[in-house]
Amino acid sequence: MEERGSPDGDPARSLEQGPEGPETPIQVVLRVRPMSAAELRRGEQSALHCSGTRTLQVSPPGGGPDVAFRFGAVLDGARTQEDVFRACGVRRLGELALRGFSCTVFTFGQTGSGKTYTLTGPPPQGEGVPVPPNLAGIMQRTFAWLLDRVRHLGAPVTLRASYLEIYNEQVRDLLSLGAPRPLPVRWNKTQGFYVEQLRVVEFGSLGALMELMQMGLSRRRSSAHSLNQASSRSHALLTLYISRQTMPPVDPGEPPVGGKLCFVDLAGSEKVAATGSRGELMLEANSINRSLLALGHCISLLLDPQRKQSHIPFRDSKLTKLLADSLGGHGVTLMVACVSPSVQCLPETLSTLRYASRAQRVTTRPQAPKSPMAKQPQRLEMEIRQLQEENRCLRSQLGQVHPKASGLSGARVAWAQRNLYGMLQEFMLENERLRKEKSQLQSSRDQARDEQRVLAQQVHELERRLLCACSLHLPNPGPAPPCPCVMAPARPCHALPPLCSCPCCHLCPLCRAPLAHWACPHRGLQLPQVFGPKTPGGLALSAQPPPWAPPCNPDSAEFPRERSHSDWTRTRVLAEMLMREEVVPSAPPLPMGPPDASPVLRGGAAVPNLARRLEALRDQIGSSLRRGRSQPPPSEGTRSPSRVLPPC
Ligand code: ADP
Ligand code: MG
Repeated sequence: MEERGSPDGDPARSLEQGPEGPETPIQVVLRVRPMSAAELRRGEQSALHCSGTRTLQVSPPGGGPDVAFRFGAVLDGARTQEDVFRACGVRRLGELALRGFSCTVFTFGQTGSGKTYTLTGPPPQGEGVPVPPNLAGIMQRTFAWLLDRVRHLGAPVTLRASYLEIYNEQVRDLLSLGAPRPLPVRWNKTQGFYVEQLRVVEFGSLGALMELMQMGLSRRRSSAHSLNQASSRSHALLTLYISRQTMPPVDPGEPPVGGKLCFVDLAGSEKVAATGSRGELMLEANSINRSLLALGHCISLLLDPQRKQSHIPFRDSKLTKLLADSLGGHGVTLMVACVSPSVQCLPETLSTLRYASRAQRVTTRPQAPKSPMAKQPQRLEMEIRQLQEENRCLRSQLGQVHPKASGLSGARVAWAQRNLYGMLQEFMLENERLRKEKSQLQSSRDQARDEQRVLAQQVHELERRLLCACSLHLPNPGPAPPCPCVMAPARPCHALPPLCSCPCCHLCPLCRAPLAHWACPHRGLQLPQVFGPKTPGGLALSAQPPPWAPPCNPDSAEFPRERSHSDWTRTRVLAEMLMREEVVPSAPPLPMGPPDASPVLRGGAAVPNLARRLEALRDQIGSSLRRGRSQPPPSEGTRSPSRVLPPC
């Protein structure tokens, strides 16, 4: 059905202007029920006339001046239940509840004025008989609308409900099975007033919620009296709790936003004399009236700007305790004032109209419950956001480094994130330590190579001198010309001088360039004969290579200064022989020195071997020289690889 607009504007729209303002008045709409069949039979006339959609004119029966009341909306008897639902602004409250506000809709008015009808429709015609859909009240329509809204939100929402009544100043749980027992109303700083041990039922469908409502309605106390055949004898509060996860969630651990939408069906005020209540009915009526009086008193005090800051006696009744937040706190409140058009009810109607028009001047300060994060100081909030951003970056990096990391469980990912930085630091330190160790090893290897090179050089030099000394002291009839290579200075590139001065005798054991050619035909002319002129093979001894020399190549008798492959091979063989662990005997077998005769050098097994060989060569040279020059042998203490070699 089309919503009937008003020239003054939609009352729901006035709520949409923002309840988040500092002061928001209670929204009040008026519903005038149609004349009942009994009233029409009595021929009663309506004393109420709607003027526009927001003003009600009251014509006193005595012919006095009309009194006008203005509300957010005035809905006459011709309006359907759907009209009321659409015009009263309850959907706006539902939206606010979804955003976390605490919202209340309550009906108020004389007994029999249509409060229960407006909220839940006509009383059920029998046990388990549902209210016809077209007569369903604000509550059922709001439930359907809300659940549909939740379905389209796309965010997880948890819905729960509680239903209680205040009967004779006792709070009873309408959703608990068994005999009704009074529940205490308590107060704390975070919740305000609340009912202890109240059953709160989670539901997931409209059907489940409807069942809960029907269960509560059937348990609610009602009695028949002259003004209402199904008069509610208690105030009933059905509350929907809406827990909604914000989208997108700032943090997975963030508590959900919790809103409330409470429907309050007040028991009607009644004149005991008019209703003819006796006994228990009278007692109930007195309780109802007392609590309504307390409600009126609180509203009066809330209206007084001076007294609003002072104490409001919400504790005077259970009803005012439970409506305290809706009336004077941080809630958003909608009052549906219900009146009867009957002239007989006019005094109560006027009382209700005055009451309602005063109530719409009561203001609240609507406030959505803040999440714990919102309560943090700004600095901490910023810090949290930065950490969350960093966390997101690290998580994405972790996913890039380990593609399988996305498949890890949340706990393992969290553990890895926590330890990633520490692990990185440990790896850096380990790398640094290994780098240092590597450079130390490299320097000690270079040092060992240098020592090895010096020793090889000294060995070679001694061998050369030994050869020279032997040739000098062999019996020789004629004066032998001194070998020119003996005194020849070493070239800077080649540590050792050539064995003889002939141009083909250039083989350097260090750089492996050929310094000597063992097949050189001129060698026999210039090098003194050490072992005699001839060998068993018929070759001149001087032309023969020493045992450690590479085999002679007859083709190289010429003077090929270009290094051939065989040259390189010989050089390599020569160097290998020098580096070999076994001492290659040159001429006479070399005596082996004691194991500790030479200092321990780093650089592998070849180095001490070379040192021993050097020592042996020195001994050989010394003995040769002594034999030739009749010199006394040097003392043992002067033997050292580092000592200056005696001139040959
Ligand atoms: P209250 O709760 O205020 O005491 P009820 O809601 O029980 O009053 O209504 C009293 C009687 O009036 C019920 O029989 C109900 O069906 C009827 N009634 C109330 N309002 C309307 C309405 N707008 N249209 C039709 N019947 C109504
Ligand atoms: Mg009622």
